[in-house]
Amino acid sequence: MRLTQRVHLVGSGATGADLSNPYDCHVYLVDGGGPLALIDAGVGLEPELILANVRAAGLDPANIETIALTHAHADHGGGAGPLHELTGAEVLAPGPAADWLRRADEEAISLPRARAGGTYPDDYRLATCPPAVSIADDDTIQVGEARVTAIATPGHAREHLSYLLEGDDRPGLFGGDVVFQGGKILLLSTPDCSIQDLVATMRRLGDMDFEALFPGHAGISLRRGRQHVDAALRVFDAEEIPPNFNA
Ligand SMILES: [Zn+2]
Repeated sequence: MRLTQRVHLVGSGATGADLSNPYDCHVYLVDGGGPLALIDAGVGLEPELILANVRAAGLDPANIETIALTHAHADHGGGAGPLHELTGAEVLAPGPAADWLRRADEEAISLPRARAGGTYPDDYRLATCPPAVSIADDDTIQVGEARVTAIATPGHAREHLSYLLEGDDRPGLFGGDVVFQGGKILLLSTPDCSIQDLVATMRRLGDMDFEALFPGHAGISLRRGRQHVDAALRVFDAEEIPPNFNA
């Protein structure tokens, strides 16, 4: 599903457009005019559905050079290993999350509790992703004629990056699970979720210039995407907490 000149939605689960496995986050494809990159990888169940959507967009999955993850929660990072096996793409994950994926460390991504709570099927297991390497704040990825810059955005998870896209018909932000339409946020009871970090992250994003907001779930804004950050900031500025998005 084409969103802008360079961005397609190729994966999306039950919290979105049901383009792929129900447990998938939004998976975006950046078309650099030859080389391709995926932002996030979905849960890793039925990864072939994501690649079928790449083909349906008239693009060749063999040209996917990079899979960049916003964070390693299973609905975003679980597909990294399976999609690497299918495409050979390089996998980039925030800081230590690369090591968690290499070892399929389910504790590190709070998977056992999420599974017990019914967020994932009982028999779901995190697939290993042996080639995952770390990416950090301010690192850039050149995707053909497009450029993607990592921005540290901790809060929903300590190891969380957003990605700023330049070279498209409008600047865009792949926000992962930082902010959703209406300024909703996604706080979890996991040990590495921090409201203070999220406030600082939101202020950082509030200083940035982007038009499109491509979040990890739910509605996508192709224009005026910044308004959702501003809405969250207004609530934080009143010393309150924005409403939680239920993924
Ligand atoms: Zn998450």
